Amino acid sequence: MKVQVLAPVYVEQLPDQLVEGRFYICEEFALTAHKCCCGCGEDVYNKLSPAKWQLTKNPDGTVSLYPSVGNWKYACQSHYVIRNNRVIEAGPMGAKAIEAVKQQDLRARDAFIAQMNAHADELAQQPVGWWATLRALGLQLLHRVRSLWPW
Ligand SMILES: [Zn+2]
Repeated sequence: MKVQVLAPVYVEQLPDQLVEGRFYICEEFALTAHKCCCGCGEDVYNKLSPAKWQLTKNPDGTVSLYPSVGNWKYACQSHYVIRNNRVIEAGPMGAKAIEAVKQQDLRARDAFIAQMNAHADELAQQPVGWWATLRALGLQLLHRVRSLWPW
């Protein structure tokens, strides 16, 4: 790898021209960008989300990106891991491995969507159930108080 260390740079907006060796982090748009570490000059963008890439900010200021960056859509087909600012070559990706990652991405996304839907269902049901129970209790209580009322 030509670039062996990336320096994290926090930006509000990604610059038009990326500088090699910098790892731009745009937290507002959950996006990172860097020049491909092989030195080919391609811009690499990684969307941060539980279904895509996860960025770890270490206490010492270094960052790690998970999973690996596989630039199979570029001619270089480079594949590396960014851990604690260091670029670790992860070996060439064969067609099979690329397909496996693509499938894994899809599965992760589906699982994420299913999880969000389940959570949404839970949220949708919870307040209704809670409110209905409380109201039923309140009515019961009111009824009981009325029956105890002396006049
Ligand atoms: Zn490259």
